[in-house]
Amino acid sequence: MKTIIKVEDLQALYLVKEGTIKAADGISFSILENTVTAIVGESASGKSTIIEGITKTLPPNGRIISGKVYYNDLEILTLKDEKLRQIRWKEIALVPQASQQSLNPTMKIIDHFKDTIEAHDIKWDKRKLIEKASEKLEMVRLNPESILFSYPMQLSGGMKQRVLIALSLILEPKVLILDEPTSALDVLTQAYIINLLKELKRKLNITLIFITHDIAVAAELADNVAVVYAGNLVEYNSTNKIFNNPLHPYTKGLINSIMAINKDMSKIKSIPGNSPSLLNPPSGCRFHPRCVYSIEHCKKEKPLLHNLKDGSQVACHLYYEEERVNETKTCRIS
Ligand code: ATP
Ligand code: SF4
Ligand code: MG
Repeated sequence: MKTIIKVEDLQALYLVKEGTIKAADGISFSILENTVTAIVGESASGKSTIIEGITKTLPPNGRIISGKVYYNDLEILTLKDEKLRQIRWKEIALVPQASQQSLNPTMKIIDHFKDTIEAHDIKWDKRKLIEKASEKLEMVRLNPESILFSYPMQLSGGMKQRVLIALSLILEPKVLILDEPTSALDVLTQAYIINLLKELKRKLNITLIFITHDIAVAAELADNVAVVYAGNLVEYNSTNKIFNNPLHPYTKGLINSIMAINKDMSKIKSIPGNSPSLLNPPSGCRFHPRCVYSIEHCKKEKPLLHNLKDGSQVACHLYYEEERVNETKTCRIS
């Protein structure tokens, strides 16, 4: 399989009157074509910032300080705005967080499709627009006849989310990025959207990247999981390994927290402490104030994402030290 997105040392921050919020700090990872990748982590850990950095859609006070993002062989962060605009939607489509509110209440759904294609200099006559929009709405199991001429307020939250996915597919992108596609929806609607995304992936051979703070959703849908903590990518691994042999102490805490879903409450151990302020994050490993395995070195030096022999990637000094000291032994902490 071929790499479709490659991110190298992405650093993004926000300017605020108190200083700078270091929301994405040295993020590197690669995504293979036709796979599903989940980006997971607590609220305010920098998940949306990573995606907005990759797609160059940060808010006005956001800045990309360094890093490269490749779409196939094309380095996209250095592209002129016009060229980047063409790549967005046609190649890489993004459904931002809480974008249900971005649907214009005074416009029918058909007009949202019309605006989207016109923003990309595409002109279809009405018949073709209806035909294409209907095809995409059917893909998300909505009835075009009743939806196309409705206003957003006539639709439920789950229906609006499906309309947004259909809109994002109108120019048939190769990569679809969804920021929290299931949040703010009831459990049944969440399950419906997850199944729908599975079906789209199967039918369209599309590469999916989605953000969730719910690791159980990642388990359902993703081939690979990127775990983010306080603006750092701390583990990147197959979903199977993340769930059956989590490596990073933070990932272990996250997996433990979903024991609640299995109703084994007695075994839940929450991660002690709170996530840090990104205005003034902890030195060295940003997780060190909460980590039970922390050693002196962790306070001083930031652990880089390290490739283990089995292909796992983890940013933790324990694994690095262990591999260096004993080449034949794989580090296991429990
Ligand atoms: P959530 O799960 O709540 O959506 P997230 O993981 O997507 O959170 P981000 O939205 O990327 O987190 O935010 C990362 C950090 O950057 C947080 O500390 C947040 O408060 C801060 N932040 C995000 N947007 C801005 C902004 N426009 N200005 C200043 N700080 C911001
Ligand atoms: Fe814990 Fe140190 Fe690993 Fe950070 S680097 S997760 S503090 S053991
Ligand atoms: Mg977010």
